[in-house]
Amino acid sequence: MHTASAAVADRIRSLLAALVGFDTVSDRSNLPLIGYIEDYLAAFGITGTRIVDTTGQKASLWVTIGPADKPGIVLSGHTDVVPVEGQAWTHDPFEMVERDGKLYGRGTTDMKGFIATCLAMVPEMTRAQLARPIHLAISYDEEIGCVGVRPLLDILSRASVKPLGCFVGEPTQMELAIGHKGKHGVRATFRGLACHSSIAPQGVNAIEHAATLIGEISRRAALVAREGARDALYDVPHTTLLTSTVQGGTALNIVPDACAIEFEARGLGIDESKEVTDAVTAFARETIEPVMQKANPACGIDFEEILEYPALDMPADHSWVTLAKKLSGRNRHCKVAFGTEAGLFVSMADIPAVVIGPGSIEQAHKPDEYVELSELLKCAGFIERVIAHCASADPS
Ligand SMILES: [Zn+2]
Repeated sequence: MHTASAAVADRIRSLLAALVGFDTVSDRSNLPLIGYIEDYLAAFGITGTRIVDTTGQKASLWVTIGPADKPGIVLSGHTDVVPVEGQAWTHDPFEMVERDGKLYGRGTTDMKGFIATCLAMVPEMTRAQLARPIHLAISYDEEIGCVGVRPLLDILSRASVKPLGCFVGEPTQMELAIGHKGKHGVRATFRGLACHSSIAPQGVNAIEHAATLIGEISRRAALVAREGARDALYDVPHTTLLTSTVQGGTALNIVPDACAIEFEARGLGIDESKEVTDAVTAFARETIEPVMQKANPACGIDFEEILEYPALDMPADHSWVTLAKKLSGRNRHCKVAFGTEAGLFVSMADIPAVVIGPGSIEQAHKPDEYVELSELLKCAGFIERVIAHCASADPS
C-alpha cells in the first residue's frame, strides 16, 4: 500500500470507528451522529443543511461541496442501522473492532462504511477546484421503509438546479446495480363476531375469512411466478407476493372475532408492488367483505399500508449508467434483491440513480457484521474518480 492510500485507510478507520460508536438503530435519534459529521465538515469550512423530522429527533444532512449553482453528483447513504437485540455478537456492536483486514461493528457494511469513506475523501474534494459540485445526502429511517430521505427529496424535486445523478452506496461489493425491486406491505384486520363455538354459525369467523384472502394471495403469487413479467438479472426473476404474519384467535371454544394478516409484494416494475397489493385489497373488498357484512353489518376488513417504496429500473443505456460504468471501471451491471433509496431519487426527484457501494449485503443485518477495509479503499478509488470527473471542465 502506498503512502496516500495508507493515509486514506487511516482516515476511513477513525471515521468509521466514530460513526459505529453512535447507536443509530432506526427507533433512536441520529442527531448526535449528524452533529459529529457537521463538526467534521466544519473543519473544512463546509456547512450542511439539516432537514429535521417532525419529532425533532432525527435529521438528514444535505451537503454541497463545490459550486451550488451547477448540476452535481450525489453520494447518498443512510445513518440508521438495524437492531442488535437477540443477535449473538462476540463484542460490543457499537464499538468497531479490526481483525484480519475486516472492520467489525453494527452498520459497518450497511452502510456507515460508505459514509465514512465519503467523509474521508472530503479533503480531496475541497482541494480539487470542483467545476461541478459533489453532494452528500445523509439520511435516516431507511431500514424501516426508506422514510427519512423523502423530505430531502421533496426539497430537491423543487430545486432550480438539479443534480446530474446519484450514487446510493448500499453494499454491492462495488458492482453497479441499475435495478432493484419495489415493495408494498399491507396489514389487513378482519373484524368478525365472537360467540361460543357450540353455536358457531351465529358468529363471523375472522380467521376463516382471513384464510380465504391468504389462499387468494398464494394463488396470485403462483400465477405471477408462472405468467408474469420476467427479468433474468434478478435471482428471483419475477414479482413475488406472500402473507408474512397472521394473528388471531383466543381459545378453542370461541369463534374468533379478530384476525390480522400482513402481506407484501415485491414488484419488478416501478409501481408494480402497489398495483399487486391494491388488486388483493380490491378482491377482499369485493369478494370477502360482503359475505362478512351480510352475516353482520358491523363486520368487515380494515386495510393499512405498512410501507412502500418504488422499484429502481434504470435503462442500461441511460447516460448516468454509462458514466457510472466509466467511473467505477466496470462494463457490466446487475440488479439487486434488496430495496434502497435509489428508486425514490428517480421517482420523487427525477434524479437518475444507481446503487454502488462497498461491502457485501451478505454481512448486513447479521451479528458480527463487518466490511473489508479493501472494499472501502476500492470505494475511495471510485470517489477519487468522481472527484476528478467533477473537477474536469467536461460538461458531460
Ligand atoms: Zn442499507
